[in-house]
Amino acid sequence: MAEKLKVATCSLAGCFGCHMSLLDVDERLLELLEIVEFDRSPINDIKHISQPVDLGLIEGGVCNAENIHVLHEFRKMCKILVAVGECGITGGIPSMRNSFTLKECLEEAFVRGAGTENAHIPDDPEIPLLLDKVRPLHHIVKIDYFLPGCPPSAEAFLYFLTELMAGRDPSLPQELIHFD
Ligand code: SF4
Repeated sequence: MAEKLKVATCSLAGCFGCHMSLLDVDERLLELLEIVEFDRSPINDIKHISQPVDLGLIEGGVCNAENIHVLHEFRKMCKILVAVGECGITGGIPSMRNSFTLKECLEEAFVRGAGTENAHIPDDPEIPLLLDKVRPLHHIVKIDYFLPGCPPSAEAFLYFLTELMAGRDPSLPQELIHFD
């Protein structure tokens, strides 16, 4: 049997919808596990990449200092790095805050929005520092492929992975690109 593709996945500033879509392969997950082996991923709850892997799939854009750290770790450990879904490719819905200053966003969320007297912006040092703007992945590191969709469908994930395994260009045909 050919060696399995070692894959790591993570969600940065995303909603986990792209990961849910990957799991929508349903019973074909068994077929998928014939060709791929997951390293770090929310799917198996492994928190760190244990060894260099063939492929990294990243959902979500970059909104805080921890996201930057994780993204650099993925770039270092993954031979091929893929921006998955609109949030990874453009910043997506989280980047809607880019029209406002970070201060305005924080005050709206934690002070005006809270509507209580003691409301304040959380300042626990454990909380990762927010960036001024939400960025797409390719603004921070080199990205090898973009897997579009919100989320990309299960079929799109399967197509992408099987084409990659076969050594072909994994660009999606138009009919597999959806934003619903
Ligand atoms: S691309 Fe869509 S489904 Fe994927 S993380 Fe962003 S909002 Fe969620």
